[in-house]
Amino acid sequence: MKNPLYRAFIKAGEQAGYGYTEDYNGYRQEGFGRMDMTVRDGVRCSTAMAYLKPAMNRPNLDIQTHALTTRVIMDGKTAVGVEYRQGGKTLKVRARKEVILSASSFNSPKLLMLSGIGPADHLKEHGIEVVHDLPGVGQNLQDHLEVWVQQECTQKITLNSWLGPLAKAWIGANWLFLKRGLGTSNQFESNGYIRSRAGMKYPDIQFHFLAGAIAYDGSSAFKGHGFQVHLGANKPKSRGWVKLKSADPEAPPEIVFNYFAEEEDKEAFRAGLRWTREIFAQPALDEYRGKEVSPGPDVQTDEQIDQWLAETAETAYHPAGSCRMGTDAMAVVDPECRVHGVRNLRVVDSSIMPTVTNGNLNAPTIMIGEKAAARGGLVHHADGHQRQPQRTDDHDRRKSRRLYPRPHPAAQRRAQLRPRRLAKQPTRQRSRKKRLEPRGLWELACKRKAGKAGRQDPRGLVGAAVRKGSGILPGASLPFAGGARSHKVRSHKAGSRHPQ
Ligand SMILES: Cc1cc2nc3c(=O)[nH]c(=O)nc-3n(C[C@H](O)[C@H](O)[C@H](O)COP(=O)(O)OP(=O)(O)OC[C@H]3O[C@@H](n4cnc5c(N)ncnc54)[C@H](O)[C@@H]3O)c2cc1C
Repeated sequence: MKNPLYRAFIKAGEQAGYGYTEDYNGYRQEGFGRMDMTVRDGVRCSTAMAYLKPAMNRPNLDIQTHALTTRVIMDGKTAVGVEYRQGGKTLKVRARKEVILSASSFNSPKLLMLSGIGPADHLKEHGIEVVHDLPGVGQNLQDHLEVWVQQECTQKITLNSWLGPLAKAWIGANWLFLKRGLGTSNQFESNGYIRSRAGMKYPDIQFHFLAGAIAYDGSSAFKGHGFQVHLGANKPKSRGWVKLKSADPEAPPEIVFNYFAEEEDKEAFRAGLRWTREIFAQPALDEYRGKEVSPGPDVQTDEQIDQWLAETAETAYHPAGSCRMGTDAMAVVDPECRVHGVRNLRVVDSSIMPTVTNGNLNAPTIMIGEKAAARGGLVHHADGHQRQPQRTDDHDRRKSRRLYPRPHPAAQRRAQLRPRRLAKQPTRQRSRKKRLEPRGLWELACKRKAGKAGRQDPRGLVGAAVRKGSGILPGASLPFAGGARSHKVRSHKAGSRHPQ
């Protein structure tokens, strides 16, 4: 946040009455504040870097690259493996327990349909044998749209002065050799969340602020100095779908978002533009504000705003919801991510979200992976997947026993003997030792057991889904390796008062 414009934007949000939020992922989403980034040591930290790389040496992890999964192999209504193409060959991998699809909101429904799970009529159109008629597969597709509101800047402090070839080379060299400078940031360093209208239970408008005036993909920039805010209405009512174009796994699916099919979606953007102008008009931006560049002062009426939306709104790359979680007839997965009507098959990615989040999608998708690994990987549902998750004390006891198996009886006996040998020590120290010793042995026993099973961490058990040969898609197992960290995410979410 070296550039003063980022702080000025936050201040302007406060002056407009929305307040400051310390942590928009925490108890209070509404307000203006700094933007979190998944950047580590100046490099954007993808799930591959954060989860897969540290787990690469695990003997129970097998990664196949340059591979295209073509279908899930079904034995009746049970998933038993996956088929994939690699180097011109068609290969199969058997699943010992389960198959987990994690191929995104476009490709998870596509793979389900290629495997005979989806709307029966649509599958028959493409000559695919129906394994299970599941009408919701591919439906309920949602996305975030966004537009930019650009403002001229009266001071020469914006990113627009860094767009020349020499400046870019300087940024590149600084980043490459020193991991410093502008190259270490995604440039969206402050943001805000507000409600588009009274009566909303949570903020539905999101702002990403940029200290420059330039197209998202860098293709066109304002000639001069400017700043902009990316305005997004995050709770669209419009729904689209993903369908098969053909039964050929290499053919891309047909994707229709139906953006702005619902009038309410336009209303949210119209309100969003008016609130943006109000925020930009606050005193905190007085010393920087020039004239409005986009959409421009002439765009005022609903019709004019709609026209501007139609011309400029673009995807924020947040597709979600095409394999919706739920228990009704149109739901695709149950609350444990298991595909309805078939066995041993889960979907764990952004496609299971019932509605798109009212914030960015990457972290919630990782959370889905962590949560599924922590719960699904542990709970063995031998008697059918339709059972509701058990949350009884009994369940927790069995779960914790699997995480921390009882020590070997000999280790237990040694633990019981140990306090007697400490008899001569002062009372306070002795009682502390008494408490700690058995636990130490117990943990040692856990580690040994985990070691024998080829796991690095006893809690790594929850990463069972990445077990060698378990049929995970390449590139799909990313969130699972981090199962041991799921407690962090749970406590974090528990603190949130806003539905995400
Ligand atoms: C350009 C861009 C910028 C973004 N910026 C942000 C951002 O700043 N913040 C944010 O929160 N979100 C951002 N997102 C969104 C975020 O990346 C996604 O929401 C998130 O990655 C979704 O995760 P997923 O697991 O559902 O799908 P993906 O991350 O797409 O993972 C699916 C994986 O499955 C693999 N796969 C698919 N089909 C097959 C197959 N048949 N065989 C083998 N492998 C297959 C794919 O190669 C991919 O690796 C951005 C997205 C894009 C495209």
